[in-house]
Amino acid sequence: MCKISLKANAKINLGLDVLGVLENGYHEVRMVMQSLELADEIVLEKTGTGISIITDSAEIPKDENNLCYKAAALMREEYGISEGVAITVKKNIPVAAGLAGGSADAAAVIEGMNRLFKLSLSTDELMAQGFKTGADVPFCILKGTALAQGMGEKLTGLKKLPKCGIILFKPDFEILTGYVYKKLDEKEIRNHPDIDGIVRAIEDGELRTAASLMGNVLEEVTAEEHPVIGRIRDRMISDGAVNAMMSGSGPTVFGIFDNERRAMSCYTGLCEDERGGRVILTEPMLGSAAGGQTVNARSWKGGGHGGS
Ligand code: ATP
Repeated sequence: MCKISLKANAKINLGLDVLGVLENGYHEVRMVMQSLELADEIVLEKTGTGISIITDSAEIPKDENNLCYKAAALMREEYGISEGVAITVKKNIPVAAGLAGGSADAAAVIEGMNRLFKLSLSTDELMAQGFKTGADVPFCILKGTALAQGMGEKLTGLKKLPKCGIILFKPDFEILTGYVYKKLDEKEIRNHPDIDGIVRAIEDGELRTAASLMGNVLEEVTAEEHPVIGRIRDRMISDGAVNAMMSGSGPTVFGIFDNERRAMSCYTGLCEDERGGRVILTEPMLGSAAGGQTVNARSWKGGGHGGS
């Protein structure tokens, strides 16, 4: 085998709480993560030497700053791989959007290199390597529905989210995660979301209860500077979403729908009225989640770069 294709699934946060700042300067978080069917397409191909990036996107770097490059370089160094790899990235996930697009791509490269170079590494080991590339990467390797704690690397797989429609609206500006966390540090967090309640509702298969408890402490920070976030959230709710919220550090807003007709009508309306953004209709990732399994991607050496 000298070529392999993989899906790099986007994520949303059904809950995002920040508990404080750790001694190493990273934020301690509690998040409920959900993979989406929306995904980038990654192809890895063995080459003579070096790492090259080919992409259809003008928004991401094509050099060593691309997270795919970083992940491939890490795997080559850690496992003594002398052969090179050409990485093709078809970008479907909006960039710098709070959907972990870069982390998902890095996760796919780590998983793909394991298969391409027959490394036979366990999922836990792949996740530990992923954590060295970014705090959201271990989840992007695990996929499904999970509670993420610590810096985002301590993952507990949850039951699959009941079937539903998810509409994403990405305003036409980008947000850098580091900026939002810095702003958050200047504030006092008044409303912590009920992360345990969301987890319980997911375990009970109660989509409406889980959605009603959704909360993200970063939303106040980003929405304060960008009123479009609150406006789209309110519109999704009045269009029949069970609930709507900003994902990660934003600016993407997502709405959860348990009624297909309402989802379609909200999607069409947003496409017609909101030209200053990208509208995507997707759903929770099909396929299995690692229900009940707890893994700590930090049991190996290395550090993360702050998750969302
Ligand atoms: P998160 O939700 O994990 O904070 P995000 O969705 O907000 O992530 P990304 O799409 O991962 O943000 O992009 C963050 C930054 O990473 C951007 O400035 C982008 O240029 C850079 N980047 C590097 N490699 C990639 C990649 N393969 N895909 C997307 N962004 C990349």
